[in-house]
Amino acid sequence: MTAILELIGNTPQVELKKIVAHLPYNIHIYAKLERFNPGGSVKDRPAWHMIQDGLKRGLLTKDKIILDSTSGNTGIALAMIGSALSYEVHLIMPANVSDERKRICRAFGATLIFSDPLEGSDGAIIKCREIYEQEPEKYFKPDQYNNPANALAHELSTGPEIWRDTGEKITHFIASLGTSGTLMGTGRYLKRMKPEISIVAAEPDSPFHGIEGLKHMASSIIPGIYDEDVFDQKIGISTEDAYDYTLRLAREEGLLSGQSCGCALAAAIKVAEDLAAKGLAGEIVAIFPDGGEKYLSTIVFADQEMADGAGI
Ligand code: PMP
Repeated sequence: MTAILELIGNTPQVELKKIVAHLPYNIHIYAKLERFNPGGSVKDRPAWHMIQDGLKRGLLTKDKIILDSTSGNTGIALAMIGSALSYEVHLIMPANVSDERKRICRAFGATLIFSDPLEGSDGAIIKCREIYEQEPEKYFKPDQYNNPANALAHELSTGPEIWRDTGEKITHFIASLGTSGTLMGTGRYLKRMKPEISIVAAEPDSPFHGIEGLKHMASSIIPGIYDEDVFDQKIGISTEDAYDYTLRLAREEGLLSGQSCGCALAAAIKVAEDLAAKGLAGEIVAIFPDGGEKYLSTIVFADQEMADGAGI
């Protein structure tokens, strides 16, 4: 295996301190920092697993181009893996994805094809399907929304790591929803280990949200891998709360985080406050999918620059 790909997984888990100072002593919130994957996000895991699965099944052969629709992080992961394994990678993404993400994909040598920004990630999915169907023999399409290997990557790695790193004491697991692979795979593993563990989905509370990488399921194309039986509860989070917690993570915990980390944290705090109101203890683990670098030009951090008087 190429050395860089050996670094995927086994990410650190840290306990939050100041943001959760109002909680009772017997409730802890831990963040699993997926930014420590070599491609910088949680999506390295499924991307690598889907590629390995494609190789094993003989679907990905040397002459094929890797093609997928992606809001960014899967694209970065596929581009990195494509570079390491010498595959051409074509990515369809909404034209309004942040410049940093586009540039990272291009830096790894991927070709970008843009879909209508007004149609969001669904527009990218549809365009990708059209391109694939014109010349299916030319491409390997991991199809992260419908490929069981996406969720399986988490069932085989993210879940066991959390179980191990919490000393088997985890009570609640929280992940935000994009393809839902993280929640499905990790949730399945943890439920198998201990059915009482509560699996919680954190979701944007509106179709017109601004949390990059996430889906509001009711108004989206539902991913084929999405299964409501895997989780116990879904919590809707406003874009404003997600942004607010994202900025606080950087300012108060020293964690430069992506917006979906703020979303997962907002849900974790709601779970923690519910437990506190009932006098219950909790060991809560939230997935922090990526770091903040790719979002520095977005309103989350740019607003603060304005407030500092530096202008944008
Ligand atoms: N956060 C970010 C920043 C993401 O890019 C994604 C994936 N689109 C997620 C969260 C959600 O992960 P999953 O696809 O496993 O649901």
